[in-house]
Amino acid sequence: MNVPEIFGSEVFNESVMREKLPKQTYKALKKTIAEGLPLDIELANVVANAMKDWAVEKGATHYTHWFQPMTGLTAEKLDSFITPTDDGHVIMEFSGKELIKGEADASSFPSGGLRATFEARGYTAWDASSYAFIKENTLCIPTAFCSYNGEALDKKTPLLKSMEAINRASLRILKMFGSDATRVIANCGAEQEYFLIDREMYSHRKDLIFTGRTLYGAPAPKGQELEDHYFGTIKTRVAAYMKDVDEQLWRLGIYAKTKHNEVAPAQHELAPIFNTANIATDHNQLTMEIMKRTARKHGFKCLLHEKPFAGINGSGKHNNWSLSTNTGVNLLDPGKTPAENAQFLLFLVAVIKAVNDYQDILRASVATAGNDHRLGANEAPPAIISIFLGDELTGILEAISHGDKYEGKRVEMEIGVDVLPHFPKDTTDRNRTSPFAFTGNKFEFRMPGSRLSCGGPITVINTIVAATLDQFADELGKAPNFRQALEELIKREYKDNSRIVFNGNGYSEEWEKEAEKRGLLNLRSTPASVPCFCDKKNVEMFSKYGVYSETELKSRVDILLDEYCKTLNIEALTMIDMAKKDILPAAAAYIKELSQTAALAKDLGADCEFETDMVKRISTLASQTYRKMGDLENQLVKCKEVKGVLAQANCYHDNVFTAMGELRAYADEIETLVGEKYWPYPTYGALLFYVM
Ligand code: ADP
Ligand code: MG
Repeated sequence: MNVPEIFGSEVFNESVMREKLPKQTYKALKKTIAEGLPLDIELANVVANAMKDWAVEKGATHYTHWFQPMTGLTAEKLDSFITPTDDGHVIMEFSGKELIKGEADASSFPSGGLRATFEARGYTAWDASSYAFIKENTLCIPTAFCSYNGEALDKKTPLLKSMEAINRASLRILKMFGSDATRVIANCGAEQEYFLIDREMYSHRKDLIFTGRTLYGAPAPKGQELEDHYFGTIKTRVAAYMKDVDEQLWRLGIYAKTKHNEVAPAQHELAPIFNTANIATDHNQLTMEIMKRTARKHGFKCLLHEKPFAGINGSGKHNNWSLSTNTGVNLLDPGKTPAENAQFLLFLVAVIKAVNDYQDILRASVATAGNDHRLGANEAPPAIISIFLGDELTGILEAISHGDKYEGKRVEMEIGVDVLPHFPKDTTDRNRTSPFAFTGNKFEFRMPGSRLSCGGPITVINTIVAATLDQFADELGKAPNFRQALEELIKREYKDNSRIVFNGNGYSEEWEKEAEKRGLLNLRSTPASVPCFCDKKNVEMFSKYGVYSETELKSRVDILLDEYCKTLNIEALTMIDMAKKDILPAAAAYIKELSQTAALAKDLGADCEFETDMVKRISTLASQTYRKMGDLENQLVKCKEVKGVLAQANCYHDNVFTAMGELRAYADEIETLVGEKYWPYPTYGALLFYVM
């Protein structure tokens, strides 16, 4: 495989544009994209035609406006290029109008009340900053999706708006430092964790099929305690899968870079090289899609659920985030001179303050029923937000805030004095337990679950940092002495917000207590965290930047809570079905076998201690399972009757979720007792330690 040759071969990228478009058109398009202007129709006509010719040459027959509805998945409605001619033939056509704007019947996408059914139409508009590409013989046009009234129905529109907000706020600050940058870009590198299991075994598990996670399952004799899977040799069948995925991603111009085994058995990770946040988000959505599709081809099922197996690590999607300028400066890089240092420290303190002030919405931005299982369990960060800075950087900030010397060396803010030590990426401590860690020249937000679109969390990070930078710019802009004001601001803001900094073990119980003392939030569940989007301070902030209007926030809260209820409802129904149709019958069959054996053996004078004992134990557990199952059925009925989506989500959390856990405990114990051939499902051992 010649990687440079195939890389981006399915993408209508810069070099294709330069080759296929008339020079003037190419220039005009580039300018439009760089300045984020709307595309005019004449330009669009030329671009659309060139795009179509290129796509048809590559075997495409259809086009689609590829968008990201609030389900967090991607959606597409395919149209073919055919246009009938008078003589009964067809030609392949694609107009500028079709490129710029599409219209989709949006009535079945969640809108949280944003769209009445009589206005079922949704509009899609090309995000020209993200290249068009070919997938499965279809030209895909990365697109934003909004309602008839212009409200965002997707994850992309707010993300683009937040990128504009952080651009403007950062530039205000940079001007004060005399920078000649004219654009600041938010970047994202999304590390994607996933499980691969055998497809045949998967097909025997209703829970995996209906819910993406195991709802029952006793632990296997071996788990992840030996940590022998992490970075272990990749098995042949998995390696072939990864190679296939890499190749497809490269063809789509996605910088797939790193792949390795993760801590849990059957768990792996794929990380691309970071990119502009909206492109990284598009690429991650594509990556997930290709990972799933390719698994089928290799006899695997790719599980992207945040917590497919109890008792072993869940899967996350670490969002690495940074800001860079169009002059090539990473604003989160400490730099080598005091002037750069001061600017860096200001951005750093802005992030610290933003995270402290908006812990609530950061937590809410990753809330889903599936991720609730992950946060706080095993290798996932807790539901408490804190920032890891490392000892060195914390030491410096502490010293500055107390006006002390740091390691015998006074840290000066004035140009020409001491320089902050440069932090090579690798010396920043590898603290894996922090939800929001500074890792040398970027922040790594580790709370997002593996299935989540990067769009939501990155939108929140961009906007809260933009809001904070604007506050700083307002203050510094008024100050008579910039340097002095800067020093005072950094000192004060670090002091006021340092409670959010924590460099210790985020998994420990002591931290939970300490965090409570510091007054940090610990929002443990989706219903406990999601409503905060509509708190006054958050509505004001998001509306100020036009990222989300109050109506859009309300609709999102409704969608998230509704999705939570539906997820739990499906899980509970699946558990009931499995207990009733498979697990209890398995217990009964085994009881029958044991009882018949005992009856026969007793005639021969055997004492039948094993059979008698087992029959009693399994029978007792079966009764408990049966009763809990009935209890769960009742809880479901109760929740269904609750009015109001928040009250309903709380009901599911407090009652259904609890009953599910109790039911599982009994059933899992039955699994450990019945004979192997009686158990209706592949076990954790079989699922996780399949032979290659
Ligand atoms: P680790 O698993 O040690 O955290 P990886 O190499 O798996 O590290 O992933 C790091 C991710 O961070 C990659 O996607 C990488 O491209 C991304 N990254 C590196 N530098 C930046 C940056 N300046 N801004 C955003 N993302 C970055
Ligand atoms: Mg990481």
